[in-house]
Amino acid sequence: MLQAQQELLDWQGRGCSVMEVSHRSPEYVEVAQQAEQDLRDLLSIPSNYKVLFLQGGASAQFGAVPLNLMQSEKPLAQYIHSGHWANKAIAEARRFGEVTIAGSSEDKGFTYAPAESALKLDPAADYLHYTPNETIGGVEFPYIPDSESLGVPLVADMSSNILSRPLDVSRFGVIYAGAQKNIGPSGLAVVIVREDLLDRARPEIPRILHWRVSADADSMDNTPPTFAWYLAGLVFKWLKEVGGLEAMEELNRRKAEKLYAYIDGSDFYSNPIARDSRSRMNVPFVLRDDSLDGLFLQQSKDAGLLNLKGHRVVGGMRASIYNAIPEEAVDALISFMDDFARQHG
Ligand SMILES: *Cc1c(COP(=O)(O)O)cnc(C)c1O
Repeated sequence: MLQAQQELLDWQGRGCSVMEVSHRSPEYVEVAQQAEQDLRDLLSIPSNYKVLFLQGGASAQFGAVPLNLMQSEKPLAQYIHSGHWANKAIAEARRFGEVTIAGSSEDKGFTYAPAESALKLDPAADYLHYTPNETIGGVEFPYIPDSESLGVPLVADMSSNILSRPLDVSRFGVIYAGAQKNIGPSGLAVVIVREDLLDRARPEIPRILHWRVSADADSMDNTPPTFAWYLAGLVFKWLKEVGGLEAMEELNRRKAEKLYAYIDGSDFYSNPIARDSRSRMNVPFVLRDDSLDGLFLQQSKDAGLLNLKGHRVVGGMRASIYNAIPEEAVDALISFMDDFARQHG
């Protein structure tokens, strides 16, 4: 953000901002291509995958996925139901065809990832969709479902854990992510799609959602969100500078482990998620006495610890410790939580 600020009014000595240049100008196309290349390097994306920079966030892809992948005759998709975001994706897909549930954790209030052995995969499905990290519930899958070996493309909404660790992209048909958690400004979505999946779309699909159209136009069939794309590029550069995704994984593992260890060791706070499914990105926790929630939020805010209120659908607290959160911030949170527990425990 400091770099973006410094060059906001005078980008590359051109006397104008990057957001003022044409998306078709050679200097902007260079920014766009470099961002894609850096993302490819970070995730080691194989050459038979296209990388798209699109608009409408992850939610636009909730509709784009069925429209690109469901057959017109007997449309059938499978979804794993793991919580809030999976539910949104399922509701959207049901508008376009039949959806069956390959696995669900609804029986225990979405506090775990459905076990791999319990999944009921259907080889007739057009694709299998899942949400590797449930942002609001704080549930992260400890495995990658294997529908691909049945010939069923695997689609993942990685909005809240993409780039948090290395990933074997070749195990997926499609990966998509809204940018605002680990990539850049909201509104942008990144879609990584295997080339054989570009030509299955229904004829009535809007151009703007058609992955083939976007792939052929280098994501510039219409004017792309140029400033968001540029900022995403700065984030990719930063990730490379700090050691890539191996370094990020190590940092994220340390951050999450110490926060969970503190919560587990306390009788004042608790986290309801099964240990093997706990998210490294989103750590929900509740206070033993929820009448103290308001005071906790007020005092943590006064201490400079922001955005700790849990999502309204689950309540309690949630610490989102994305890539951009340094380890010192987690230390500060733990220290605050400990002081608060001593005062009120
Ligand atoms: C935030 C989030 C979304 C929604 O993203 P939008 O960009 O607001 O559409 C979808 N899925 C997951 C997993 C998310 O974390």
